[in-house]
Amino acid sequence: MNAVTTHSDVAIIGGGLMGCSAAFFLRQRGISVTVLETDKVGRQASGTNFGNVRRQGRPIFQLPLANRASAIWRQANALLGSDVEYLQGGHMRVCFRDRPGNVGAMEDYAAKAREEGLDLELISGNMLRQRFPWLGPEVLAASWSPLDGHANPRLAAPAFARAAARLGAAIVEDTKIVHASKQGEDFELVAEDGRLFRAPVVLITAGAWAGKVAAWFDEPVPITPRAPTMTVTEPVPFAIPCSVGVMTPEEIETVYFRQVERGNLVLGGSTRAPSYPDEYRAWVMPQNTLTQLEHIRRLAPGLAPLQIIRVWSGIEGYTDDYLPVMGPSAKVPGLFHAFGFSGSGFQIGPGVGETMAELIATGATDIPLAPYDVRRFDK
Ligand SMILES: Cc1cc2nc3c(=O)[nH]c(=O)nc-3n(C[C@H](O)[C@H](O)[C@H](O)COP(=O)(O)OP(=O)(O)OC[C@H]3O[C@@H](n4cnc5c(N)ncnc54)[C@H](O)[C@@H]3O)c2cc1C
Repeated sequence: MNAVTTHSDVAIIGGGLMGCSAAFFLRQRGISVTVLETDKVGRQASGTNFGNVRRQGRPIFQLPLANRASAIWRQANALLGSDVEYLQGGHMRVCFRDRPGNVGAMEDYAAKAREEGLDLELISGNMLRQRFPWLGPEVLAASWSPLDGHANPRLAAPAFARAAARLGAAIVEDTKIVHASKQGEDFELVAEDGRLFRAPVVLITAGAWAGKVAAWFDEPVPITPRAPTMTVTEPVPFAIPCSVGVMTPEEIETVYFRQVERGNLVLGGSTRAPSYPDEYRAWVMPQNTLTQLEHIRRLAPGLAPLQIIRVWSGIEGYTDDYLPVMGPSAKVPGLFHAFGFSGSGFQIGPGVGETMAELIATGATDIPLAPYDVRRFDK
């Protein structure tokens, strides 16, 4: 019989940004917590993403969650005791001239966002060129969010994990949970090497792997693993503190970039490739990189001559409606979900962690969670 190695109030399956930030905020509330991670914390989507800390472009109903996260990002270094390279240089969405209808959509979005506490400034014409002279001639208008920016994804989840550990959380790496079930009052989680973990509450934050984990509790969620394409250029003098992206209904045009203070430009967007969670692989397809570069040069032609020094991708789990699953299980008391962030979980990550901790600790939250209800997959 296997010895029970850990009993805690909450066991978290998956040590990405969601799991690690939830652990940190649970410990702040004095709740004992164990994070179980197959590999090292923050190595999957949370550590391989682009690093956009942007609120605009999200569904309006998600802005309260994004605002909560934004407040945490602003104080992250002090809160966590380490630098996550959060740079509040602003975030800009632009539309191209061949889609003039997008200007109206931007205005409409800005009006609704303002009601949710997100102030966006619409900029076009000479003013746009004066303020952002590096934008290409194809750019027609921009929506500017001054209080957003970007951060370093490689640092964020590990910083939350270290801070959670300092508060007393057990961060258990190299521990793949291969099965979990409810046994009386407690859940029993079985690791690949046979160790057992028990807790009366379980939070599933297993990213692209979470659909299968939820299925252990008869609550399967279809998750499609995909791989956004990332590219880094050689460093050039730091000149662009904001993060910039294209607003378009065409996936192929949805390119974005940011410059890190060391000078490299990080590019992202355009077509996503498939990814392979069972093999822990997300291959970069060269054609996706080429397509990305084609549209990036429309956005900022000055980037075109820069040498590409590195490309990579990561494994991200997408739901069919591109919305996450967040909230309590509909079937098993004590079970909670926070997964399926569909390519846009980095910014909201700390807000997800704080909201899930609040929900677990108090049974309620003011953050609207109805759109993320797991029951929408019942049909
Ligand atoms: C290339 C790329 C670019 C992106 N760009 C952005 C962006 O700019 N802005 C933005 O907001 N979002 C972006 N995203 C999305 C964002 O990164 C994710 O939504 C977010 O990181 C998801 O965090 P997570 O903790 O849910 O998942 P993950 O970080 O994937 O963590 C899940 C963890 O669970 C672990 N796990 C799985 N199964 C088990 C098990 N059985 N036992 C133990 N551990 C398990 C995994 O090993 C993994 O570490 C991007 C994603 C990618 C891949």
